[in-house]
Amino acid sequence: MPTDPRRPAETWTCFLVDARSEGFSVSRVEHKMGQRACPAAELSFDEVFVPDERIVGREGDGAPETTIVLACSRPPVGAIATGIARGAYERVLSWLEEDHAARGLLERQHVQLALAGMEEEIHLARQLYMDAATELDHRALGGVMSHPSVRALGHVPASVRKRAPVRGWLASERARDATVALLHRTTSERAVTRSLALSSMAKARGGDVAMRVTGAALELVGLRSGPVRAELEKLWRDAKLCQIYEGTNQLNRLEVYRGLCHRETISSLPPLRRIQLNGAAGAQTDARAHISVNGDGGES
Ligand SMILES: Cc1cc2nc3c(=O)[nH]c(=O)nc-3n(C[C@H](O)[C@H](O)[C@H](O)COP(=O)(O)OP(=O)(O)OC[C@H]3O[C@@H](n4cnc5c(N)ncnc54)[C@H](O)[C@@H]3O)c2cc1C
Repeated sequence: MPTDPRRPAETWTCFLVDARSEGFSVSRVEHKMGQRACPAAELSFDEVFVPDERIVGREGDGAPETTIVLACSRPPVGAIATGIARGAYERVLSWLEEDHAARGLLERQHVQLALAGMEEEIHLARQLYMDAATELDHRALGGVMSHPSVRALGHVPASVRKRAPVRGWLASERARDATVALLHRTTSERAVTRSLALSSMAKARGGDVAMRVTGAALELVGLRSGPVRAELEKLWRDAKLCQIYEGTNQLNRLEVYRGLCHRETISSLPPLRRIQLNGAAGAQTDARAHISVNGDGGES
């Protein structure tokens, strides 16, 4: 939220609010049609006092910080949606292959066409979130992830990182400033905007695919009752939320417009970086090699 309502864009700031703070309450727990294992609630902040040390990052840096968080969190929503679609597809396929009630349906061309369409959509949705994640890892945040200090940190055992002096340093102002400086040095606003656009595309299309595939699977089962229909109905209800949270699909498509439909956005991108995962430790290694990039940001 802004610290000065007259200058919201310049003073947008992230806070970490203690749930025991006076004035904070959970005002409404949502009654959801799907994804009910993950509760969602409306939070109220009535004159809550938040001390300076609860600012996340720096005052006024909230907008770019939120952009990076959304760029990182939207591809996983695309992946969740793709998983829901794939679950529905595999369930209806096994029903068509194995269930007595579906005998003969697989021989019909309209059923084959429906299955092929589902397979295509799932494949597309998977490509989109993989593409968005690759862009994030290799371009927008590649410089940070491949920096020697960050790589070295990846090799420090979790037990050491949890110790008081190390944990204190990681949470310190100096460490925070160093991270922000590194981010500014290794990426650009345009790279992050483009990355957010690809992440938004993966999220929005993933949600649409999940709705279409679960709907098409239900249509194949039709009015037949039994566990398959109940399972597909649940997946259809789960799919709907993927079009809403992490920003509605409409708002995500506006990000696609901002990040990809402007000619100037694709110029001045930082180079792609190659990051290899170290199998045993899972840490990022070797990022020195650049994939060669020509002047206007296109890969060659
Ligand atoms: C179950 C659930 C869980 C959630 N979990 C989280 C969470 O964990 N963290 C979190 O931060 N948020 C969460 N959200 C919030 C969610 O991201 C928002 O509800 C969503 O982004 C929509 O915002 P809004 O409710 O303010 O609707 P509004 O922004 O008021 O939108 C209402 C409608 O208008 C459309 N609209 C708005 N502006 C435009 C425009 N410029 N052009 C075209 N159409 C437009 C929207 O697409 C939507 O259809 C959750 C929401 C739900 C329902």
